[in-house]
Amino acid sequence: MTVAAETADLPATDFDAIVVGAGFGGMYMLYRLREQGMRVRVLEAGSSVGGTWFWNRYPGARVDTETMFYSYQFSDELQQEWDWSERYPSRDELWAYARHVADRFDLWPDMQFDTRVAAATWDEDSLSWTVETESGDRLSSRYVVMATGCLSSFNVPKFPGLESFAGDVYHTARWPEDGVDFTGRRVAVIGTGSSGVQTIPVVAEQAAHLTVFQRTPNYVIPAHNRPLDPDEVAKIRANYPALRAQARQTFSGNIFELGGPSALAVSEEERNAEYERRWETGGLAFMAAYADFMTSEAANETASEFVRGKIREIVKDPETAELLCPRQLFMCKRLCVGTDYYETYNRDNVDLIDVNASPIEEIVPEGIRAGGKVYEIDALVLATGFDAMTGALNRIDICGVGGSSLRDLWADGPRAYLGLMVANFPNLFTITGPGSPSVLTNMIPSIEQHVDWVADCLAHMDAQGAARIEPEASAQDGWVAHVNEVADLSMRSSCESWYLGSNIEGKTRVFMPYIGGFPAYVRKCEEIVDAGYAGFDMR
Ligand code: NAP
Repeated sequence: MTVAAETADLPATDFDAIVVGAGFGGMYMLYRLREQGMRVRVLEAGSSVGGTWFWNRYPGARVDTETMFYSYQFSDELQQEWDWSERYPSRDELWAYARHVADRFDLWPDMQFDTRVAAATWDEDSLSWTVETESGDRLSSRYVVMATGCLSSFNVPKFPGLESFAGDVYHTARWPEDGVDFTGRRVAVIGTGSSGVQTIPVVAEQAAHLTVFQRTPNYVIPAHNRPLDPDEVAKIRANYPALRAQARQTFSGNIFELGGPSALAVSEEERNAEYERRWETGGLAFMAAYADFMTSEAANETASEFVRGKIREIVKDPETAELLCPRQLFMCKRLCVGTDYYETYNRDNVDLIDVNASPIEEIVPEGIRAGGKVYEIDALVLATGFDAMTGALNRIDICGVGGSSLRDLWADGPRAYLGLMVANFPNLFTITGPGSPSVLTNMIPSIEQHVDWVADCLAHMDAQGAARIEPEASAQDGWVAHVNEVADLSMRSSCESWYLGSNIEGKTRVFMPYIGGFPAYVRKCEEIVDAGYAGFDMR
């Protein structure tokens, strides 16, 4: 029992903390709170750990952040002993890593799987939460930590007739555990975001025929994935603390080689040489070529045009190449990283349909009717993304002070203090919630920063004999205003994307992540703690 509970002489709860989700956030949260002597239960809808890397097992799924840094750093032993095989490991390897972490830190006994949380209700008298599962179990706790993930509530667009389709329908985020054999089958993929970009080349190799339905072409930088070189690994391991510290000082928590301040400050020749070098290196570091991609349209256009030039070079059919050329600002939607993505459209068994010219009218038993024509298929792959950042939280019936509903309060867009807590919802924390840098950064370091903040906060409360914490409405308003203000400074908030919620029908458009950068955000969190948890009401 926590000191807080003893001092306040509150009724006993089943647990000190309930953590929802056993992805990288939930696992580390369990580890930290248990180290602090708390009784913790993790509730997870899936049947194993890993979160994103449990669910997203579509062919070609792999991380697109350099893995030596897309990994936990809380335990040096862990980062020294785990062997990553590739620059961008596959989903299977990431899932194996998650299971290894659960083994190594003995996390399994405190995690409960195949358990989806349906509701969480705050009781002001007992200062506790009651968490109800879909199977009707009710568990009480002092604290709830929502480690439900930013991209976990998957999106199935309302295609008329979808249920009438005679073949198989798969969503990239809910792939069958035993895999799917597309050999000899006619397949359609709808969606060309990161998931579609990864799966299309792999499905194309297997299927008899693949038709890709594209709404918005994306910028896809080649991954140039490769096995990790043992010398490179040894060098990183020997310098891990310094490299991790260096990463923490960067905007996105990634060590990207930073280019110049402006794409327009150099000659066209120099600029293109820089783009060429980054294209050959591969990966998301292309974004760091120049610092003004998100503040100058002219600078942005130079990168866009470079990628369009590459597409025209790679894709042999000029009409297909033009269809694949993105027109929105570079980096405005999440940049994609792929392997043989554009090359795939040179295959005889692959067709590209632009749904702007040929809108998807309905799904019929034999396939997809678009632009008045039926495309006959045996299997349909939906790579149609997620109800990002708020979707997983809004699925749960979360009721705070006076029965206020989080879903209702967030109907016009999420409001949270630091993306960590919400006014009116005491003792409820969100890991990488809206209003924190989260999806604009390397996720695992951002997760660790949040988990550490929450664990330290609870230790502090324990030491103070406090049993209730909630953000002040004025502090939350101030933070939300700041999040919006910095979003407006960046062109990233100007185009249709899941960052804004514009991919979900009826969702209010608000740029949800904090775009002020990881270092500025961490500093803010630290200042708030140093000022005695300024903006929080702790009793
Ligand atoms: P996404 O980026 O939202 O892409 C969904 C795709 O489906 C888009 O092309 C979208 O078109 C299309 N779409 C949605 N509804 C449609 C409709 N009604 N008709 C036609 N097309 C429709 O989702 P995602 O690819 O799953 O990726 C989401 C995020 O997850 C990524 O941005 C990334 O952050 C993360 N992710 C990371 C990795 C990795 O690390 N390797 C892999 C996969 C995902 P519009 O663009 O026009 O909306």
